[in-house]
This record gives sequence, structure tokens and C-alpha cells, in this order.
Amino acid sequence: MPETYKNNVSAQIGNLWKLIGNTPFIAVSYRFKGGPEQQVLVKCEQYNMTGSIKDRMALYILQKASEQGKIRPGDMIVEATSGNTGIAFAAIGKAIGNRVRIIMPDWMSLERKAIIKSYGAEVKLVSKEEGGFLGSIAMAEAMSHYDGVFLPRQFANRYNVEAHEKTTGREIGHSLLLEEIKPAAFVAGVGTGGTVMGVGNFLRSLFPEMKVHPLEPAESPTLSAKYKAGSHRIQGISDEFIPDILDLNNLDQVLQVNDGEAILMAQKITKELGMSVGISSGANLAAAIRLQQQLGTNKAVVTIFPDNNKKYLSTDLFKEEPFREGYLTKDVQLIAHRVLNKV
Ligand code: PMP
Repeated sequence: MPETYKNNVSAQIGNLWKLIGNTPFIAVSYRFKGGPEQQVLVKCEQYNMTGSIKDRMALYILQKASEQGKIRPGDMIVEATSGNTGIAFAAIGKAIGNRVRIIMPDWMSLERKAIIKSYGAEVKLVSKEEGGFLGSIAMAEAMSHYDGVFLPRQFANRYNVEAHEKTTGREIGHSLLLEEIKPAAFVAGVGTGGTVMGVGNFLRSLFPEMKVHPLEPAESPTLSAKYKAGSHRIQGISDEFIPDILDLNNLDQVLQVNDGEAILMAQKITKELGMSVGISSGANLAAAIRLQQQLGTNKAVVTIFPDNNKKYLSTDLFKEEPFREGYLTKDVQLIAHRVLNKV
């Protein structure tokens, strides 16, 4: 690659969009308590460039910033993140010629820290005593006064939502129209809320009656309680506070899932479908199946697999998880997946 290519940031951003988005949209068929075959629809975001849904938001924010002259090659991107966002900025930042500093809580999985470092980004770890996630955000904000520093501010940046309106939501909407499926509901675990807001906004513009449900861990119901409550093992969702871009008044009922159930469902997806997914994918599928059982099995429910399982090798996802009363995983048999179409 000639060195000058990297200097043409907009060409490089266009190049990266060929590796990000246009992910497969699949139907997962299952039986509940041995009953008839049913299906839920899933957008498979583990197939993005760095293996997660956050690539879309990171590339879109950097594209807007570069178009508006808010970031230049060589500037430092500084972001507080629980992991996937850090990986996305580290990789995309490198590809377009920026330095990256990621500030994250020290309890995030070993793999996430190592992967971010492998892209040549700096990692600053923040302990619970130093303020955990909120402390990480405060440290990033403190750097905003320096020249040559760009803060994406994923929790407050409207372009995070817009990225999902213009890409994830649009792709799902077009796939549904092509398949002539009218969705009854969309379910997504909330980290920044970018996915649930953006996909929800776009799908409701096509299907005004559909419900859009945010999902949170039952062990840490920050959205329902309105403050940080408890701790949980579904990395990537429920980060200690209610993000600015999440508008609960514009969303339907908050759903909950136990972290143990999410782990068992993610393990099941991998074992029974041969598809590698992370813990929040298990949470999303468990909530989507439960919702479909309540709504009626002829109702189409859509959800997301946000990432794959590689970043969780050292976590409980790769250990034996005890089954508890109330989990639906023993009642669900996953049968197969079918790729509907790539837009
Ligand atoms: N699952 C995982 C694994 C994630 O990393 C994230 C992003 N933090 C989400 C779900 C939630 O996505 P969003 O930030 O768009 O709400």
C-alpha cells in the first residue's frame, strides 16, 4: 500500500465500510417444551471487521468527525469503554492513521485488554476504587482540553444512534421487507443504547406498531432502578448508569434476563447451532424467545448477536454454568439457522 493512501482518510473510511456492516440476517429455528418449530430473527454482528457491532458506531463517528474537520491524522482518539468499543477504535484508528488511548475498568476480560494493546493502542486501567466506569469517563473528559485529542463520547454522541439508524436498522428493515416479514418486536441489550435506539427508530419508521424493548441484566437492573444496582456478568451491557442517548420514554417495557441464563444460552447457540457468540448474544436470544412465547408464536421477534466468543475465553462463558429454576434454556432446543439474505 503506498504511504499516501493512508493520508486520504475519506478513501480509507470508504474502504473500511466494505469490511463493516452488511452482516448476515438469519432465522434461528427452535422448539419450546417440545412444541412446534418456531423462529426468531437475528442480525449477526460478530461478522464485522473486529468481531462486534461497535465497529459500525466507531467508523461512523470517525467519518463524521473527519468530514467536519474535528479530527486529523495523528490526533489521539481517547475513549472510555467496556471493551468492544475500545477494540473497534483501536483497529479503525490505526487503519486511518490515528493514535488511540482506551480507558477501561480493570475487571474487563483479559482478552479485551490484550486485543486492544495488540493494535498498538494505549490502555489505561481504572480500578473500582478509582471510580470504575464513571471514573474512566471522567478521565477521558479531563483530556478533552488538550490539542490533538478527539473524544468520540459514545454514551452521549448522537452519531452513535445515527450509525444504527443508517446502517444496522436500515439493513434489518430492508431484509424484513424483502422477506415480507412484519416484525412485532425488536429486543436489544443496552450498553450505550445506540443499538436499541437507532435500530428501533429506523424499524418503527417502517413498522410503526412494532415494540422496541431494551434489555438489562436481572442482577443489575440499572434501567429499571434508575441508578447503578448490583453487579453482573454480561459484559458490554448495563455499564453503571443510564446513558444520555437512551430515551426510555420512547421505548417499550424494559426486559430482564439473568446472567446465568445468558451464559447458558450463549453456550447453547455455540453447541447446538455451531455459531460462536458472546454472552450478550445469549441474553438477547433468551429474551427474544421468552417474548415470543408471551406474544404468540406467529409474531416475528428480531434481535442481535453483538459479538463472538473469542474475547471470553477466560470468563464464565467457558466454564460450567449451573442451571437455576426459572431459566428457559432447558425448555429450548435450538434446531438450525438459515441465512435469509445479505443486503
Ligand atoms: N453487547 C456487547 C458485547 C457490547 O459490547 C455492547 C456494546 N457496549 C452491547 C451489547 C450493547 O450495544 P450498545 O452500546 O449499542 O447499546
